[in-house]
Amino acid sequence: MQPNDVQPFKQQVQAEVDRLAPDLLATSRFLHANPEMAYEEHRAAERLTAVLEQHGFAVARGVAGLPTAFTARAGSGRPRIAFLAEYDALPGLGHACGHNLIGTASLGAALAVKALLDRVPAEILVVGCPAEEKGGGKIPLVEAGVFAGTDAAMLVHPSNRTEMVKLALGMREIRVEYFGKASHAAATPDQGINALDAVVLAYTGISTLRQQVRPDARIHGIITHGGQAPNIIPEYAAARFYVRALDLEYLEELSRRVVACFEAAAQATGCRLKITPAGCDYHPYKPAYGLAELFQRNLEFLGEVVDQGPVDRELGSTDVGNVSQAIPTIQPMLQISPREVTCHMAAFAEAAVSDAGHRGMLLAAKAMAMTAVDLVTDPTSLARVADEFHGRA
Ligand SMILES: [Zn+2]
Ligand SMILES: [Zn+2]
Repeated sequence: MQPNDVQPFKQQVQAEVDRLAPDLLATSRFLHANPEMAYEEHRAAERLTAVLEQHGFAVARGVAGLPTAFTARAGSGRPRIAFLAEYDALPGLGHACGHNLIGTASLGAALAVKALLDRVPAEILVVGCPAEEKGGGKIPLVEAGVFAGTDAAMLVHPSNRTEMVKLALGMREIRVEYFGKASHAAATPDQGINALDAVVLAYTGISTLRQQVRPDARIHGIITHGGQAPNIIPEYAAARFYVRALDLEYLEELSRRVVACFEAAAQATGCRLKITPAGCDYHPYKPAYGLAELFQRNLEFLGEVVDQGPVDRELGSTDVGNVSQAIPTIQPMLQISPREVTCHMAAFAEAAVSDAGHRGMLLAAKAMAMTAVDLVTDPTSLARVADEFHGRA
């Protein structure tokens, strides 16, 4: 298909999003008014799947053993394009991360592209991803193979700036416990084995290690148990640490060096050490620049200005990283709030239901749908995205 032939399809998906706008706004408002925490997003999942079913999508609920995860499919074959819906909220702050907008924008994009499927062979997949804020719901979805055979995945996150590629750090949690021996801290300290000393030594060792790590890496932790009373040598102490890095290999290396600090402290104090890996790793975000470029072109066509200037180095971690290591994935940021209002602030929850928020949501739905049009109508674009992902570009 020539670029000129693609334009009518792009116009059609834009018109579809406009036509669906009242329903999309109502869905976004519903999610916003009923904030649900990680893995408790029953009403959100019900609402989104109900709309998808109304529009003829085949819905599967409880995917990967997660009650509030779902998939919805329309069409068949390849390319298969996934839109990721997030819909969990934050304790005490409601939708201060704007996931009501993420879920609804992905819904809108999927509904819009579905309208083309009688003329364009493709499969549209909506993946309902619970628990982004806590628990990493996409990790079991990736492990269950939900994304296998999918050519690209997209979602748009509301933000205080518009940028196409925002890196995210891989993250591993390490839980550590030290077992020593209690004794009277004044009368018989020589009879005790001090577990708190072990945690403090480990903490100090890790603090020293920090000076020798790459600038993007992060290691941070808390002491969760440090003894019972000042006059008892602590027989038990415990801590939780997060290790973060921009690539998986370095995450492994750093984790080994952090564990060495824990082991050294055990050796020095004579405590017994127990290390518990705390579940699954968050993977670093692997950028899909080619896909981001397609999205940017569509977004700019719609009149949005992409922020220039220094790349945002305020990095966190997200389970989108795990999807991005499996298939080409983008999560562009779209500005809905002033610079000083960042996500996880109370004011961001207001932005997430404001006119600016809803304008951003509709824009995101359109730009994602138009990017899907690029991929399903132009084999060259699709191949470029795949080649880049597999390191062939
Ligand atoms: Zn968040
Ligand atoms: Zn978020």
